[in-house]
Amino acid sequence: MKFSRRDIMLGVGALLGAPAFVRRAEASPFVEASFPQRGQIVSGMQATVTRIATSEPLVALTFDDGPHPSLTPQLLDILRAYEVSATFYVIGNRVAQLPQLAARIAAEGHEIGNHTWSHPSLFGHSDAALLDQVDRTSHAVINATGRMPVTLRPPYGNMHPRQRLMLHQARGIPTVLWSVDPEDWRRPGSTVVTNRILSMSHPGDVVLAHDIHGPTIRAMPGTIEGLRARGFRFVTVSELIGWPRWDRRRLRTVASAS
Ligand SMILES: [Zn+2]
Repeated sequence: MKFSRRDIMLGVGALLGAPAFVRRAEASPFVEASFPQRGQIVSGMQATVTRIATSEPLVALTFDDGPHPSLTPQLLDILRAYEVSATFYVIGNRVAQLPQLAARIAAEGHEIGNHTWSHPSLFGHSDAALLDQVDRTSHAVINATGRMPVTLRPPYGNMHPRQRLMLHQARGIPTVLWSVDPEDWRRPGSTVVTNRILSMSHPGDVVLAHDIHGPTIRAMPGTIEGLRARGFRFVTVSELIGWPRWDRRRLRTVASAS
């Protein structure tokens, strides 16, 4: 099943039978959360999620910048062995090159989020250019998996609050940042990555990592075992927020919602 850009604009969730709808934002600069959620979203505004305020021992592992042709499969093997679900913030042009790998991510129970088409800093982007980065990636993910990413992580975390509100209003997509950063991209070594994640993680946290670095992949068995030993359970971002499934939330534009 192929989806066109227009399908995305009109909300593929409708095709998937999703019951929820995204209310059009009013004049207030603070967008009401228009989706069910587990606990209070901890952020400066509702269009942004950094972590969830919950007493449940839940943590969401997120992996950015893939899919990577050799490292992502290694990570998937590890996650499968430990029966852990994670969230992958994929780069659209890599999904277009590796659609079968994206399909494997989804088929094995993980969530796929949007990490833009070409990984730019979005600070200087016009609204149209930003939405093009998002829509092209959504299109690639849908064509690979049949499912729509329901959250965005901006590269480098670079997105003005006004841009996050614009995206939420235009596409119903909240921006997901993170609350635990082991700085694995500096390649400090697997043991350091594991120790940082274990020492920093609390219930409701979103952990930032990258599945394009070998030491990060090798850090995962110890990280998973350590977090489990501390009582944590692993959930995807949608599960952490309280959405039953990542692909069942209807996405609409302001134009189609009005
Ligand atoms: Zn990135």
